[in-house]
Amino acid sequence: MYEWLNALPKAELHLHLEGSLEPELLFALAERNKIALPWTDVEALRSAYAFNNLQEFLDLYYQGANVLRTEQDFYDLTWAYLLRCKAQNVIHTEPFFDPQTHTDRGIPFEVVVNGIQQALTDGQEKLGISYGLILSFLRHLSEEQAFVTLDQARPFRDAFIAVGLDSSEMGHPPSKFQRVFDKARSEGYLTVAHAGEEGPPEYIWQALDLLKIERIDHGVRAIEDERLMQRIIDEQIPLTVCPLSNTKLCVFDDMRQHNILEMLERGVKVTVNSDDPAYFGGYVGENFAALYDSLGMTESQARKLAQNSLDARLA
Ligand SMILES: [Zn+2]
Repeated sequence: MYEWLNALPKAELHLHLEGSLEPELLFALAERNKIALPWTDVEALRSAYAFNNLQEFLDLYYQGANVLRTEQDFYDLTWAYLLRCKAQNVIHTEPFFDPQTHTDRGIPFEVVVNGIQQALTDGQEKLGISYGLILSFLRHLSEEQAFVTLDQARPFRDAFIAVGLDSSEMGHPPSKFQRVFDKARSEGYLTVAHAGEEGPPEYIWQALDLLKIERIDHGVRAIEDERLMQRIIDEQIPLTVCPLSNTKLCVFDDMRQHNILEMLERGVKVTVNSDDPAYFGGYVGENFAALYDSLGMTESQARKLAQNSLDARLA
């Protein structure tokens, strides 16, 4: 890591808490909860982290999340992530969590939320990291199941700033969740959505026009549609871009082909984020370092990216 990059004050706006589960903690939680794992040790698990696309990653990711059972587990997961933030001068974070990943396997909603919420509160108090938590729906599940999750969230409404949409993008367009998002907005939630990671620019249009999102998560395929590019530049709609994730999941073959700096130079409000850092090779700091190493990011570009992340906060 480069000291000057580390020292820049930053916000992280695209981070899945379940994706920050490092192999060491995964093994520790499996032992604590007496769960048998298909991998012999941490190294065997780490070597399984090679993916050809989003779905291959998701299959492993949901398997990993299975070790999270108790409020303490969710606390420990979140706290470990906040310590990484502290070490890299991430002063504000707006993490996602996927309640359905846990409620579908019998973990009560409140166990998940209480553990995460307690760690975030402690992080603000003891580490000085401010936050806003985003409840994300799994788009490969049905609209009806998303409505159930929104109902479960109601007693905890104050714990969340926004709802989001993640998981398998292809074949699950934003339009599938228009009514859920309408309902969420009527309850005062802001909205964000993953769009244009693997999916086409049309999904980004839908996320903007139908889900009325404040920020686009990923959005790198916007560059294929000039009219869309003009809109996100004119309206300064932030994109939460995740460079290491994009190369690990083969959205770009190589970091040298990534379009984040081209977008930045064209005036798009792009930000740098880690997505699922335990699986993709690093946190925000490592993502900045990769742009410096492979794309020749300048110091002024790095400062602009960091400033964009602070400007694009919802909380
Ligand atoms: Zn993501």
